[in-house]
Amino acid sequence: MPTPIHDLHYASGDPLKRLPLRKAAVIFIVGVCLCLCGLLYLQLEQSRQHELTQARLASANLTRAMAQQAQDTFLAADLVVTSLVDWISSDGFGAAQFGQLQRTFARRVQALEPLHGLFLFDRDGQWVVTSFNDLPRRKGVADRDYFKFHQQNPSLQAHIGPAVRSRQNGEWIIPLSRRVNDRNGEFQGVLLAGIRMAYFEQFFKSFDLDDNGSMFLALSDGTLLARRPYEEQRIGESLAQGEIFSRYLPQAPSGNAMIRSVLDDVVRLYGYRQLDAYPLVVSAAVPEGAILRVWYANAVQSSVIVALVVLGVGLFGWVFVQQVRNGERIEADLRAAQERLEVIATHDSLTGLANRRLFERALDIEFSRGARQQRPLSLIMLDIDFFKRFNDAYGHVAGDQCLAQVAGVVKRHCQRKSDLAVRYGGEEFAVLLPDTDIKGAFAIAEHIRLAIKDLHIIHCGAPSGYLTLSLGCFAFVPRPGDGIEAFIERADAALYQAKNFGRNRTVVLSVETGTRVKARAAVTE
Ligand code: GH3
Ligand code: MG
Ligand code: MG
Repeated sequence: MPTPIHDLHYASGDPLKRLPLRKAAVIFIVGVCLCLCGLLYLQLEQSRQHELTQARLASANLTRAMAQQAQDTFLAADLVVTSLVDWISSDGFGAAQFGQLQRTFARRVQALEPLHGLFLFDRDGQWVVTSFNDLPRRKGVADRDYFKFHQQNPSLQAHIGPAVRSRQNGEWIIPLSRRVNDRNGEFQGVLLAGIRMAYFEQFFKSFDLDDNGSMFLALSDGTLLARRPYEEQRIGESLAQGEIFSRYLPQAPSGNAMIRSVLDDVVRLYGYRQLDAYPLVVSAAVPEGAILRVWYANAVQSSVIVALVVLGVGLFGWVFVQQVRNGERIEADLRAAQERLEVIATHDSLTGLANRRLFERALDIEFSRGARQQRPLSLIMLDIDFFKRFNDAYGHVAGDQCLAQVAGVVKRHCQRKSDLAVRYGGEEFAVLLPDTDIKGAFAIAEHIRLAIKDLHIIHCGAPSGYLTLSLGCFAFVPRPGDGIEAFIERADAALYQAKNFGRNRTVVLSVETGTRVKARAAVTE
């Protein structure tokens, strides 16, 4: 059933349009928290990248220093060996020269800290002269790689071989050797400078490096020569399969890379450098954890602070949203109470129909609208026949129930939204029908009358034995300035006529020309 537009009791009433404050607050707070987290992430990522860049720089500098030291060491040993080879090649090494050669060797070794010793071997690999006073009484070095290399290779280039234990005193040495030819270019033997591995270890130890860090010196083929931390069993092992030798060195002679160790699963920043003058590679590794240790501490600190701030903002937001929700609830309750009051003020409590206050308000509105649009406005006034007798016969409670029943029927016949059913007085009702002419009003009035009749409400005081209604209809096109009293009076007059004509009928009264009212009683039954 359509809702009458004048009837607040039935008005659905759109909820007040307002800024969705709760939603906006939630979005704002979530946005603030996300921004804080995003800023934290950006700041941490930036500082992490900064730390890594600094570490890469430090790593590059460290490997440069290591390479320089290795190069200087080998170059110094090589210069000694080269000058001695030249001398021996021109003067030969007969018994006459032994004494002088031995003293020269010893002086050179004394002068150069990294040198373990200098050794001259004949073409069979037997000791001829060494920087030590006594010649070893063991077999020669014909089985050593460096000796075989020079024996088979006419090149006069320096050769650096894998670390070996000195047969002189068992110390680990890195051999740097050159071939000794006679004046005719025939192989006469090998001059070897043994460079103390311990010299490199001491040098490596002089750096401030994390416990999990490492440094090494290796041949270009990956053979390990010296290492920090020192692990004897690893000396001589091949690093050729490692990422530095297999992947990075073929691409660039120096650089750095983050590599996860297959041995201990630790990620380290490896700096590496291939020496320019010798087939040697140095490398230093620092664990990522050590590089980022300070960063981690700062990150934890910043994250805790941001987490607390986010928590605080979240809590504040929660309280705020609760407050807004409470406010909305109170406002909704107030609005509902206001609507209830409005309904009470404008409706009849027994029948639920509009009261005279609302009726008059609706009349004002519809008069203006009818005048503006030049559309007819109809009014039906209806009164229950012999209702006093009904009360007398069945009591006031039954009378009230009967009134509610009649009101229900009247209400049901208000089909349009603008139609309004009113309890006008005791057992008197009105139906306001905007945009309805007299024919329409009459038809509705008759429907109401017949509907009540069909209810067969027993009324012993009525001639028919059933409850009946008398109805009066009036219709006109309102003009500006027309009073509502005359309108009601005319509908009332029609009702009066219906009563006079014998009740249980509808009488219509309409304005036909000008202001002349013609009582045209369309009477039924
Ligand atoms: P008529 O056919 O001429 O209209 O006769 P009537 O008896 O209906 O007319 P009258 O106006 O003399 O009587 C109206 C009666 O309606 C008087 C009163 O007892 C009854 N009445 C008015 N308001 C109420 C109400 O709220 N409840 C009940 N139960 N009766 C009411
Ligand atoms: Mg009556
Ligand atoms: Mg009456």
